[in-house]
Amino acid sequence: MFEGEHMAGTTDKQLIIDGKRTDGRTIDEIRPLRIEVGVISSADGSALVEWGGNKVLCGVYGPRECIPKHEASPYGALIKCRYSMSPFASLSEHGRSGPNRRSLEISKVIREVFENLIIAENFPKTQINIFIDVLQADGGTRVASITAASAALASAGIPMRDVVSAIATGKVDGQMVVDLGKDEDNFGQSDMPIALSHRKKDILLLQMDGLLTKEEILKALDMAEKSCEKVHEVQVAAVRKIYESAALSEQKISL
Ligand code: ADP
Repeated sequence: MFEGEHMAGTTDKQLIIDGKRTDGRTIDEIRPLRIEVGVISSADGSALVEWGGNKVLCGVYGPRECIPKHEASPYGALIKCRYSMSPFASLSEHGRSGPNRRSLEISKVIREVFENLIIAENFPKTQINIFIDVLQADGGTRVASITAASAALASAGIPMRDVVSAIATGKVDGQMVVDLGKDEDNFGQSDMPIALSHRKKDILLLQMDGLLTKEEILKALDMAEKSCEKVHEVQVAAVRKIYESAALSEQKISL
């Protein structure tokens, strides 16, 4: 909980009416998700994620020389991550951007997700930078960022043990839901972002704001697994598209 943020569960506003949420979704429905990779020409890998009202841009650089040099490790690449929110990301919070406690925390937890996935030992004495800019924020930007970074790293050809997909789960009006929008995140009873690796289903991120029972947490994990499957499909389709177009242009050259 950060300065200016709303405390979970602090509204009387009804967020679920007749099984439908304020934007018409059912409890296990995710918002429209679009991913495009290869959107930054100077980056080694990049992805733009548009997820509901979120717009998140991720650029990946490396493996490249580690600067400052004294940070370099002979055992593997150093993973660096910087998440930041643009000043115009959210109308109501206009101007509250730049590095702050929230963005430092999110950068750290995202870095830890990828430290567990990237085969860093293949690239000693180097660094891999993951830059994430939230252009528009509408609840769930950290899970959108992880989803974007995963696609960007894959498009950069950086070897990973698995692909990660992420989703926010939470409790709204006493019911467990997935992919919380901004109002649900700010005024729901609890929110729990989750990141899962695709093959092994390892939990790479799990945070919680508010309170949930053991049964509710297990239900959220189950719902997250199903939603992450949908997110994964969109990620794979986006990455496949650029590899296919690269293969096509190679074919044209050889003709
Ligand atoms: P997440 O975006 O991962 O859900 P939070 O739970 O911290 O992270 O924030 C919920 C939502 O509140 C954000 O998605 C965003 O819409 C809004 N928000 C929080 N902090 C800021 C900020 N500093 N500037 C703009 N919007 C913010």
